[in-house]
Amino acid sequence: MKFAQEFRKSLQHEGFPPKWVDSAVPYGQLKKCIKKVTNELQELGLDKDTLAQLTAKQKDPSAVAFHYHLDGKAADSKHFRPRLTFFIHLKDGVAIDAKLTPSTRDFLKKIASEAKGTQDTFANESDHAKPVSEPCNSAHTASTEEELLSVRQVEVPLVFDGEFFDILQTDVSNLDALQEEEQSKLGKEITRLGQEIDQATKPSKGRKARGDLETWRNIFELYLDARIFFSTRENDHGARTSTQAVEQLRWFQDQVLSRKLIHGLKLENSRKAYTRFLNMNALLLQILKFQEINNLAVTKILKKFDKRTSLGVSREFPVTIRSNRLLAGSVAKDLCAQMSNDLISVVPQLDDYLCPICFVVAYWPVRLECQHVFCSRCLVKMSRKGERFCPLCRADVIMRAGIENFDTDRAAFLREYFPKEVKEKIRANERERNTEIFGPYSDSSCSVM
Ligand SMILES: [Zn+2]
Ligand SMILES: [Zn+2]
Repeated sequence: MKFAQEFRKSLQHEGFPPKWVDSAVPYGQLKKCIKKVTNELQELGLDKDTLAQLTAKQKDPSAVAFHYHLDGKAADSKHFRPRLTFFIHLKDGVAIDAKLTPSTRDFLKKIASEAKGTQDTFANESDHAKPVSEPCNSAHTASTEEELLSVRQVEVPLVFDGEFFDILQTDVSNLDALQEEEQSKLGKEITRLGQEIDQATKPSKGRKARGDLETWRNIFELYLDARIFFSTRENDHGARTSTQAVEQLRWFQDQVLSRKLIHGLKLENSRKAYTRFLNMNALLLQILKFQEINNLAVTKILKKFDKRTSLGVSREFPVTIRSNRLLAGSVAKDLCAQMSNDLISVVPQLDDYLCPICFVVAYWPVRLECQHVFCSRCLVKMSRKGERFCPLCRADVIMRAGIENFDTDRAAFLREYFPKEVKEKIRANERERNTEIFGPYSDSSCSVM
């Protein structure tokens, strides 16, 4: 299937909102514009084969025959200013070191002779209209030998390439604006949902709230494991494609179902919040898909432009274009970061509160001067062995720690959010202390002699 058809079909069948479809890359319009560009070039004797032949010479900088440059930084304009510039031997009008068709040679010869007489023709580009090699401005007076060496830079005026890039840049800017709008809407919804889950599952609110908190913790743990839109793992680091994201999202939902986690949500608000959470992910997926196909459309249309003109824009356009979102592809990454900051973090994960030495919840928590937190038990053992340095940052702080280093806020927080783990840790600490005092003992019932 041709890409134009494929693109149209995706736009129709993926369930994108009409507003999005209206802002999609106007592929058909751009294709027509390429036709105008090729006609224009052909009228000038610059068909794609001729330009391709000249392009082949570009590799050798001393033999550069033409430059096609997209000036995207013109201060007075929001738009591109493409410039097609030829470097021509003044004597015979042949572009440097290239074999041209007679019509092209005639054309360039004509331009060159015009440029000789009336430099003002290209005066708006006067900085470009200087001879490249010496002698400067000596076309009229130069000796034969010098004349052979002299090369003139001539800008070829084109109309429709400017139109093409204007349409493309305008659309990319519109798409950026649309993505910004969607990102901000979804961002607000993420924050709101985070606040609601936080409120509903405050452990102080009772048994159901505590149970739901536990269930949310399991759900978010799975969600993080699924790395749906973005992976932080070393082997597949980076943003996912929409196809990968669909697969990961499906895995996550299957896991939630098979572990009966939705049944674990006892509060109605929690169950509603879970549906909203899924919808949010579906929307993020849509945004990603939409971004992907539009990105592809930009790549394809630029390739087509190159194929028809041999001007080599697909290398330069993505660098010159102004696009913070569509081509930068940062939306999914940004939203995922927000998801973990504003939503997932409202349900504290045990991993963030483990003692880095014994890998059990750090209770009682002791915050050393270097701000690293350990459980009191591990620090007591270290100081008994005379170890003075923090195992994480090697600061000389262990011997200086005292009662004031107990982090009472953290302790209260841990008792509230991880009551089970805290109780277990207290019991383990007691067992260990008893063993130290009374020696090893077994749990089996005491036998009296
Ligand atoms: Zn510890
Ligand atoms: Zn430290």
